[in-house]
Amino acid sequence: MSKSIAELRHDIVEIGKLVFQKGWIAANDGNISIRLDNNTVLCTPTAVCKGMMSVDDLIICDMEGNKIEGTRARTSEIAMHLTIYRMRPDVLSVLHAHPPVATGFACAGRPLNLALLPEVIIGLGSVPLADYGLPGTSALTDGMLPYIPKYDAILMANHGAVCYGEDVYQAFFRMETVEHFARITFVAEMLGGAKALPREEVRKLFESRGRYGVNSRAQMEPGAPVVTEDVQPSSERFELTRSQLLAIIDDALRARGVLA
Ligand SMILES: [Zn+2]
Repeated sequence: MSKSIAELRHDIVEIGKLVFQKGWIAANDGNISIRLDNNTVLCTPTAVCKGMMSVDDLIICDMEGNKIEGTRARTSEIAMHLTIYRMRPDVLSVLHAHPPVATGFACAGRPLNLALLPEVIIGLGSVPLADYGLPGTSALTDGMLPYIPKYDAILMANHGAVCYGEDVYQAFFRMETVEHFARITFVAEMLGGAKALPREEVRKLFESRGRYGVNSRAQMEPGAPVVTEDVQPSSERFELTRSQLLAIIDDALRARGVLA
């Protein structure tokens, strides 16, 4: 049985507290929404800490982002939520936050796209990085458009992450998976480099999705992560010999008139 609007308001307030307690947002960052029906969306207000909201702070908007109900101003990122709802009829909730390790990857220009962990490959495929776009404008969403049909979690360059799913809890758990995956990837890199799984193992994991009840449209046609075969062995990476390096330095010094 589907939940009442009162229950959905309560869910958003609860998830807001969790997102705040986990340190995925600071001050008034982040936003959460739930699609109520074909015409309306329940969303968080702007300029309110999402860890300290009451159910009466929430706003109901139409699919153009116009406020229908509520006393506060709606989130400034409603356009991103509405774009995702329009492109993904299967999605009923969207969560945007700035989890620090995943956002660190987004600020370093690094997608979380290596085939490292079975649960992440089964659940998310991989996590792409969308180009930066100015918050509060349509540019914020432009970089995500190629990824929204195929992915349930996206890093936003120099900004944060957005996750979505069939309810607000699934969106929250996907954000949790993204941040957990970012932390593990970071540790693996500190320990000498993350080692991707081979293509054959990734194929088996994709095939096993049905057993885990992974059924969203995006998840059945996931963006494939980068596998062992895609990663160049370090011996084939671009390396300079000593004489090549000296020649480059010589050229640079000549160009500046230091060497004749
Ligand atoms: Zn943000």
